[in-house]
Amino acid sequence: MVAKKILLVEDEEKLIANLADKLRAEGYEVFTALDGDTGWEMARSDAYDLIVLDIMLPVLDGLSLCRMIRNDSASANAPIIMLTARGTEVDKIVGLESGADDYIVKPFGLGEFLARVRVQMRRPLADRGLNQDELSAGDLRLDFTGRRAYRDDFEVKLSNKEFDLLTLFMRNQNAVLSRDFILTNVWGHDYLPIDKRTVDVHIRWLREKIEDNPSSPVRISTVRGVGYRFEG
Ligand code: CA
Repeated sequence: MVAKKILLVEDEEKLIANLADKLRAEGYEVFTALDGDTGWEMARSDAYDLIVLDIMLPVLDGLSLCRMIRNDSASANAPIIMLTARGTEVDKIVGLESGADDYIVKPFGLGEFLARVRVQMRRPLADRGLNQDELSAGDLRLDFTGRRAYRDDFEVKLSNKEFDLLTLFMRNQNAVLSRDFILTNVWGHDYLPIDKRTVDVHIRWLREKIEDNPSSPVRISTVRGVGYRFEG
Protein backbone atom coordinates (compact mmCIF):
# COMPACT_ATOMS: atom_id res chain seq x y z
CA MET A 1 0.00 0.00 0.00
CA VAL A 2 1.29 3.42 -0.90
CA ALA A 3 1.69 5.67 2.13
CA LYS A 4 -0.68 8.62 2.28
CA LYS A 5 1.06 11.96 1.85
CA ILE A 6 0.61 14.74 4.36
CA LEU A 7 1.89 18.30 3.96
CA LEU A 8 2.52 20.25 7.17
CA VAL A 9 2.96 24.03 6.98
CA GLU A 10 3.94 25.48 10.35
CA ASP A 11 6.72 27.87 11.38
CA GLU A 12 7.19 26.58 14.94
CA GLU A 13 10.07 24.22 14.32
CA LYS A 14 9.64 22.17 17.47
CA LEU A 15 5.93 21.69 16.89
CA ILE A 16 6.29 20.74 13.24
CA ALA A 17 9.06 18.26 14.12
CA ASN A 18 6.83 16.68 16.76
CA LEU A 19 3.83 16.45 14.47
CA ALA A 20 5.93 15.04 11.64
CA ASP A 21 7.45 12.37 13.93
CA LYS A 22 4.03 11.30 15.17
CA LEU A 23 2.57 11.11 11.69
CA ARG A 24 5.55 9.17 10.34
CA ALA A 25 5.19 6.71 13.22
CA GLU A 26 1.60 6.20 12.02
CA GLY A 27 2.87 5.30 8.56
CA TYR A 28 2.19 8.54 6.73
CA GLU A 29 4.68 10.11 4.35
CA VAL A 30 5.23 13.61 5.72
CA PHE A 31 6.44 16.75 3.94
CA THR A 32 7.08 20.00 5.77
CA ALA A 33 7.27 23.71 4.99
CA LEU A 34 8.21 26.44 7.47
CA ASP A 35 6.54 29.34 5.66
CA GLY A 36 3.44 29.94 3.55
CA ASP A 37 5.26 30.56 0.30
CA THR A 38 7.17 27.28 0.45
CA GLY A 39 3.92 25.54 1.43
CA TRP A 40 2.25 27.01 -1.65
CA GLU A 41 5.06 25.88 -3.96
CA MET A 42 4.66 22.35 -2.61
CA ALA A 43 0.84 22.21 -2.64
CA ARG A 44 0.37 23.69 -6.09
CA SER A 45 2.62 21.16 -7.77
CA ASP A 46 1.84 17.96 -5.91
CA ALA A 47 -1.33 16.22 -4.75
CA TYR A 48 -1.34 15.51 -1.02
CA ASP A 49 -3.88 13.37 0.82
CA LEU A 50 -4.10 15.90 3.65
CA ILE A 51 -2.72 19.37 4.35
CA VAL A 52 -2.25 20.90 7.80
CA LEU A 53 -1.84 24.68 7.84
CA ASP A 54 -0.99 27.02 10.66
CA ILE A 55 -2.84 30.35 10.36
CA MET A 56 0.01 32.63 11.42
CA LEU A 57 2.79 31.94 8.96
CA PRO A 58 5.64 34.04 7.59
CA VAL A 59 5.46 35.35 4.01
CA LEU A 60 1.96 34.08 3.25
CA ASP A 61 -0.64 33.49 5.98
CA GLY A 62 -2.49 30.20 6.37
CA LEU A 63 -5.96 31.48 5.43
CA SER A 64 -4.74 32.95 2.14
CA LEU A 65 -2.76 29.82 1.45
CA CYS A 66 -5.84 27.69 2.17
CA ARG A 67 -7.92 29.66 -0.35
CA MET A 68 -5.16 29.51 -2.96
CA ILE A 69 -4.86 25.74 -2.58
CA ARG A 70 -8.64 25.35 -2.94
CA ASN A 71 -8.88 27.65 -5.94
CA ASP A 72 -6.20 26.23 -8.14
CA SER A 73 -3.60 23.66 -7.21
CA ALA A 74 -2.73 20.01 -7.55
CA SER A 75 -4.06 19.62 -3.98
CA ALA A 76 -7.36 21.48 -4.53
CA ASN A 77 -9.40 18.52 -3.27
CA ALA A 78 -7.23 17.59 -0.30
CA PRO A 79 -8.78 17.85 3.15
CA ILE A 80 -7.29 20.82 4.99
CA ILE A 81 -6.92 21.14 8.77
CA MET A 82 -6.10 24.61 10.11
CA LEU A 83 -4.10 25.19 13.28
CA THR A 84 -5.05 28.28 15.18
CA ALA A 85 -3.45 29.97 18.16
CA ARG A 86 -6.57 31.69 19.45
CA GLY A 87 -10.23 30.84 19.65
CA THR A 88 -11.04 34.15 17.97
CA GLU A 89 -9.36 32.91 14.80
CA VAL A 90 -11.91 30.11 14.61
CA ASP A 91 -14.49 32.66 13.48
CA LYS A 92 -12.16 33.63 10.68
CA ILE A 93 -11.74 30.06 9.55
CA VAL A 94 -15.46 29.42 9.53
CA GLY A 95 -16.62 32.95 8.73
CA LEU A 96 -14.26 33.78 5.91
CA GLU A 97 -15.07 30.53 4.23
CA SER A 98 -11.46 29.67 3.73
CA GLY A 99 -12.27 26.19 2.47
CA ALA A 100 -10.81 24.37 5.47
CA ASP A 101 -12.38 21.08 6.53
CA ASP A 102 -11.51 21.28 10.21
CA TYR A 103 -9.49 23.30 12.67
CA ILE A 104 -7.63 22.66 15.92
CA VAL A 105 -7.01 25.33 18.53
CA LYS A 106 -3.51 25.44 20.06
CA PRO A 107 -2.32 24.13 22.39
CA PHE A 108 -3.55 20.67 21.51
CA GLY A 109 -2.47 17.15 22.43
CA LEU A 110 -0.86 14.89 19.87
CA GLY A 111 -3.59 12.33 20.50
CA GLU A 112 -6.27 14.81 19.52
CA PHE A 113 -4.26 15.85 16.48
CA LEU A 114 -3.91 12.26 15.26
CA ALA A 115 -7.61 11.65 15.80
CA ARG A 116 -8.49 14.66 13.65
CA VAL A 117 -6.10 13.50 10.95
CA ARG A 118 -7.67 10.05 10.95
CA VAL A 119 -11.15 11.54 10.62
CA GLN A 120 -10.09 13.48 7.54
CA MET A 121 -8.26 10.50 6.08
CA ARG A 122 -11.20 8.19 6.53
CA ARG A 123 -13.30 9.94 3.89
CA PRO A 124 -16.24 7.84 5.01
CA LEU A 125 -18.53 8.31 2.05
CA ALA A 126 -15.95 7.71 -0.61
CA ASP A 127 -14.67 4.58 1.07
CA ARG A 128 -18.05 3.16 1.83
CA GLY A 129 -19.22 3.61 -1.74
CA LEU A 130 -22.17 1.71 -3.09
CA ASN A 131 -20.21 0.18 -5.91
CA GLN A 132 -21.49 2.93 -8.12
CA ASP A 133 -19.39 4.79 -10.64
CA GLU A 134 -21.95 7.52 -11.10
CA LEU A 135 -24.98 9.10 -9.52
CA SER A 136 -27.34 11.59 -11.16
CA ALA A 137 -30.13 13.88 -10.04
CA GLY A 138 -31.61 16.39 -12.47
CA ASP A 139 -28.72 18.06 -14.27
CA LEU A 140 -26.23 17.07 -11.55
CA ARG A 141 -23.96 14.09 -11.99
CA LEU A 142 -21.29 12.68 -9.69
CA ASP A 143 -18.42 10.63 -11.04
CA PHE A 144 -17.02 8.58 -8.15
CA THR A 145 -14.01 7.16 -9.94
CA GLY A 146 -12.54 10.63 -10.45
CA ARG A 147 -14.46 12.26 -7.58
CA ARG A 148 -15.77 14.93 -9.93
CA ALA A 149 -19.12 16.67 -10.08
CA TYR A 150 -20.83 17.90 -13.23
CA ARG A 151 -23.76 20.16 -13.93
CA ASP A 152 -25.09 19.95 -17.49
CA ASP A 153 -21.80 18.21 -18.31
CA PHE A 154 -19.77 21.17 -17.10
CA GLU A 155 -17.48 20.32 -14.22
CA VAL A 156 -18.34 21.93 -10.88
CA LYS A 157 -15.21 22.24 -8.73
CA LEU A 158 -16.07 20.88 -5.29
CA SER A 159 -13.91 20.47 -2.23
CA ASN A 160 -13.72 17.06 -0.63
CA LYS A 161 -16.34 17.85 1.94
CA GLU A 162 -18.65 19.47 -0.61
CA PHE A 163 -18.39 16.37 -2.76
CA ASP A 164 -19.18 14.11 0.20
CA LEU A 165 -22.06 16.35 1.21
CA LEU A 166 -23.57 16.35 -2.26
CA THR A 167 -23.15 12.57 -2.43
CA LEU A 168 -25.02 12.21 0.84
CA PHE A 169 -27.83 14.46 -0.37
CA MET A 170 -28.11 12.75 -3.74
CA ARG A 171 -28.29 9.35 -2.08
CA ASN A 172 -31.04 10.60 0.20
CA GLN A 173 -33.19 12.65 -2.16
CA ASN A 174 -36.25 14.27 -0.61
CA ALA A 175 -35.30 13.09 2.86
CA VAL A 176 -34.75 15.66 5.60
CA LEU A 177 -31.22 15.20 6.92
CA SER A 178 -30.37 16.51 10.38
CA ARG A 179 -27.06 18.20 11.08
CA ASP A 180 -26.10 15.25 13.30
CA PHE A 181 -26.80 12.81 10.49
CA ILE A 182 -24.75 14.93 8.12
CA LEU A 183 -21.86 15.25 10.59
CA THR A 184 -21.84 11.52 11.21
CA ASN A 185 -21.87 10.60 7.55
CA VAL A 186 -19.62 13.25 6.10
CA TRP A 187 -17.21 13.96 8.94
CA GLY A 188 -17.00 10.40 10.28
CA HIS A 189 -18.92 8.11 12.55
CA ASP A 190 -17.20 9.11 15.75
CA TYR A 191 -16.69 12.69 14.70
CA LEU A 192 -14.99 14.87 17.26
CA PRO A 193 -16.87 17.83 18.61
CA ILE A 194 -16.96 19.70 15.33
CA ASP A 195 -19.05 22.84 15.56
CA LYS A 196 -22.42 22.21 13.95
CA ARG A 197 -22.08 25.55 12.18
CA THR A 198 -19.47 23.78 10.09
CA VAL A 199 -22.32 21.92 8.38
CA ASP A 200 -24.14 25.19 7.64
CA VAL A 201 -21.02 26.79 6.24
CA HIS A 202 -20.25 23.87 3.95
CA ILE A 203 -23.85 23.80 2.74
CA ARG A 204 -23.60 27.50 1.97
CA TRP A 205 -20.48 26.85 -0.14
CA LEU A 206 -22.18 23.95 -1.90
CA ARG A 207 -25.20 26.11 -2.69
CA GLU A 208 -22.94 28.72 -4.24
CA LYS A 209 -21.82 26.07 -6.68
CA ILE A 210 -25.02 24.21 -7.53
CA GLU A 211 -27.84 26.71 -7.05
CA ASP A 212 -28.87 29.30 -9.66
CA ASN A 213 -29.62 31.69 -6.85
CA PRO A 214 -27.73 30.62 -3.70
CA SER A 215 -29.63 33.06 -1.50
CA SER A 216 -32.95 31.40 -2.34
CA PRO A 217 -31.91 27.80 -2.84
CA VAL A 218 -34.25 25.30 -4.48
CA ARG A 219 -32.08 22.18 -4.58
CA ILE A 220 -30.95 22.13 -0.96
CA SER A 221 -33.65 23.66 1.17
CA THR A 222 -33.40 24.47 4.85
CA VAL A 223 -35.97 22.73 7.02
CA ARG A 224 -36.08 25.04 9.97
CA GLY A 225 -35.15 23.45 13.27
CA VAL A 226 -34.54 20.08 11.63
CA GLY A 227 -31.90 20.20 8.93
CA TYR A 228 -31.71 20.15 5.15
CA ARG A 229 -33.47 18.48 2.25
CA PHE A 230 -32.18 17.87 -1.28
CA GLU A 231 -34.69 17.84 -4.10
CA GLY A 232 -32.46 17.41 -7.12
CA1 CA B 1 2.71 30.18 13.47
